[in-house]
Amino acid sequence: MTNKTHDLGHLTVLISGASVAGPALALNLARYGARVTVVEKAPALRGGGFAVDFRGHVHRTVLTSMGIWDEIHAHQTHMGRQSVVDADGHARVDLPSEMMSGDVEIFRGELARIMYERTKDRVEYVFGDSIATLTDTPHGVDVTFDNSPSRRFDLVIGADGLHSHTRGLVFGDESRYLRFFDHYVAGFEVPNDLGLDRTGRLYSEPGRAIALGNYDGDPDRAGALLVFRSERLSYDRRDTAAQKRILAERFAGMGWEGPNVLKALEAADDLYFDAIAQIHVDRLTKGRVALLGDAGYGATMGGMGTGVAIVGAYVLAGELALAGGDHRMAFAAYESRIRDFAKGCQKTSGNAGPFFAPATERRIRSRDRMYRLLASRPLAAFFKRLTEKSATGIKLPEYPV
Ligand SMILES: Cc1cc2nc3c(=O)[nH]c(=O)nc-3n(C[C@H](O)[C@H](O)[C@H](O)COP(=O)(O)OP(=O)(O)OC[C@H]3O[C@@H](n4cnc5c(N)ncnc54)[C@H](O)[C@@H]3O)c2cc1C
Repeated sequence: MTNKTHDLGHLTVLISGASVAGPALALNLARYGARVTVVEKAPALRGGGFAVDFRGHVHRTVLTSMGIWDEIHAHQTHMGRQSVVDADGHARVDLPSEMMSGDVEIFRGELARIMYERTKDRVEYVFGDSIATLTDTPHGVDVTFDNSPSRRFDLVIGADGLHSHTRGLVFGDESRYLRFFDHYVAGFEVPNDLGLDRTGRLYSEPGRAIALGNYDGDPDRAGALLVFRSERLSYDRRDTAAQKRILAERFAGMGWEGPNVLKALEAADDLYFDAIAQIHVDRLTKGRVALLGDAGYGATMGGMGTGVAIVGAYVLAGELALAGGDHRMAFAAYESRIRDFAKGCQKTSGNAGPFFAPATERRIRSRDRMYRLLASRPLAAFFKRLTEKSATGIKLPEYPV
């Protein structure tokens, strides 16, 4: 039960984005009685997405306190071994599941659904809309929307991802905050031609790679992940046809399953395409506005972004409850608690591109040698501890329950 002194019933909060960070904060704030509205640009809760994982005791503690640890387990992927293969499909290295999929792995869309279901009766969700303007005043933030009538909120939280619209409105243009890591990544669904059953394969050529994975045991479908090394490209983020052309050029002549994957790309209607990049802002809060999750400290992949978003939501809600809704106190504490933790997790993401697509044949071979060693029995536990180090790099305060 909510302790009366930590009751946030007087606080109105607008959250932009209903993926991971947004519903996680909504869930944590609703427990303290705050009146929460979540606005999401997509017409409905977005399903699917990549498999995301949780590692170590910090993630477990937060998810348990949110009451969703068991449900995440009930819907986990049960992803097994992933192998690095040569052009003929023969395994060069087998990577055990805990190496790639953490303690528990779930589809991003499934995680969002769990948190949405838990909050939809206590939180107002507005789909198919977006913040148009924000005016911070001493008494609240005046918000206009693309479609809904204008309203005033005590606080506004930008949980709208790596290319955050809220960040753009309040903190300035993305070019100031986005660091590019010399690689692009694409993902889409393909036919399960290899008959994968909760297993994955990774094939690399210098500067490019294709990974195929079957995460849910569906005999017909698999997910393709394409990574390539590149200079910064200029393209329209909404122009899927242009993105397909870029991929077709970059993966022309690719061995192994390359031709089949490119054929599936032509028909794909769920293409995700983005730079491998990180967000580094000077401050996570300004006035009555705060950034959460990828919007504030995201990394496209390899930075445990989901775990950081969940921990960030827990800390932000907990600090607001401790401060009785005083955002100045709470935002300062949120900044100081989460900043170093998020930076530590971001560090690992810089390796994502070179891990998938080493620049030369020699580097591909040395990657394989290193992972063969790390996957071996004695070193597997050491590797697990290594990957958990950044995920557990925060001392969680005790928040009122
Ligand atoms: C290929 C790939 C693999 C990944 N693998 C992992 C992994 O293994 N482990 C892991 O922890 N993380 C992984 N991630 C990262 C993870 O997906 C993100 O860190 C996580 O989804 C961040 O959640 P978020 O809610 O902050 O942002 P997002 O998930 O990006 O959600 C942002 C939301 O805001 C909405 N939105 C955007 N603009 C507006 C607007 N103007 N108004 C309203 N709503 C808006 C979007 O529609 C979306 O719903 C991976 C990412 C990629 C790309």
